[in-house]
Amino acid sequence: MHNVSHLECIKCGRRYAARPDRYTCDACGDAGILDVIYDYDYIARRVSREAFEDNRDYSMWRYMPFLPVEEGSARRPLRVGWSPLYRAEALGRVLQLDNLYVKDDGLNPTGSLKDRASAVAVLKAMEAGADIVACASTGNAASSLAGNAAALGLRSIIFVPKRAPEGKVAQLLIFGATVISVQGSYQDAFRLSAQAIEKWGWYNRNAAINPYLVEGKKTVSLEICEQLGWQIPDWVVFSVGDGCTIAGGWKGFLDLYRTGLTDRLPKMVGVQAEGCCPISRAFHTGRPVEPVEENTLADSIAVGVPRNPDKALLAVRDSGGTMVNVSDEEILAAMGLLGATTGVFGEPAAAAALAGLRKLVADGAIDRHETVVLCVTGNGLKDIANAIRASGELIRVPPDLEYVERALKRLELRG
Ligand SMILES: *Cc1c(COP(=O)(O)O)cnc(C)c1O
Ligand SMILES: [Zn+2]
Repeated sequence: MHNVSHLECIKCGRRYAARPDRYTCDACGDAGILDVIYDYDYIARRVSREAFEDNRDYSMWRYMPFLPVEEGSARRPLRVGWSPLYRAEALGRVLQLDNLYVKDDGLNPTGSLKDRASAVAVLKAMEAGADIVACASTGNAASSLAGNAAALGLRSIIFVPKRAPEGKVAQLLIFGATVISVQGSYQDAFRLSAQAIEKWGWYNRNAAINPYLVEGKKTVSLEICEQLGWQIPDWVVFSVGDGCTIAGGWKGFLDLYRTGLTDRLPKMVGVQAEGCCPISRAFHTGRPVEPVEENTLADSIAVGVPRNPDKALLAVRDSGGTMVNVSDEEILAAMGLLGATTGVFGEPAAAAALAGLRKLVADGAIDRHETVVLCVTGNGLKDIANAIRASGELIRVPPDLEYVERALKRLELRG
């Protein structure tokens, strides 16, 4: 990895060699999250806008010069990344935004942005010589690890909290994972996975702990920028659970800036659920992050004890962005609005980002002329129960046209 210089603790600045199984800082423990530090001069000599134009690899691996994996070290069987960026005019009209884009990361192989991290995790596991990869997850990290591991012939062992939606658990089982359903919260599942990983020495895909995973997630921003013709949006909106996704999003924009491919940076918006908002509370109060209940239907961001709040807070603060909370009702409304105005089906945690954006526009924090990218982080098909709660009634009729006509009359849709 000639592009990587070293790993650096975001708390104390200690440096470590970038070995595949180096997770956190020895001096700071679990709070000592490491950041991958690159040699940007080295990268800058190997990338250009023109070269990207000719690059036929339509996946996250087109950004190989920015990624912390050995070149040619392993196969990359699944097509992760290069998800579409749509111009969302109808949704923009509802929100009163003239330049709104939707990045649909629910179209990744296992249906969420987490595939970007898992694709890196399985390669790092192979570099480390591991046969088994493990993680705890609210659902998407798990299903994406299981899918990406299956594609490379690795075994996966997954710890999920009991609230994980059925769709995600079904994915785990289909991908052949060993699934341990922890009858407790995400916190409980995380703790148990950490103990088991320590005891049996599996490769650790817990995103906050493993510094390489945020690097996979950052490819979403590299794509956004390239898809916008190398323009940097004014705002980029993500929902926030552990904090790794928004941290990755920010890292991608920093990388582009530091290699000179772009000359500005966007403001990052982090959205949390009202019933579980430890990071946004810390952002607004300036106090340390404190554990909270996990009280929201948006399971992917129901993280009461976030594992990567520092990187998330740095992303929002350094970018001059902000954080906002949304209620479950607002999330359900946003889920319906997103689907009906864009044709993109987002899961509740993805719709939360839209609900947050809606609030910020209504409050005047975001101006209608500014360019905004909304990241849809997970596919709504994973959580049908909440989708049905979010949407309207069916029209039930006997198989007779007359009843259809009556129903249409009632809806004033005829002709
Ligand atoms: C994981 C996830 C998030 C939040 O990512 P964090 O790294 O936990 O902050 C948001 N939306 C979806 C769909 C997710 O799966
Ligand atoms: Zn440290």
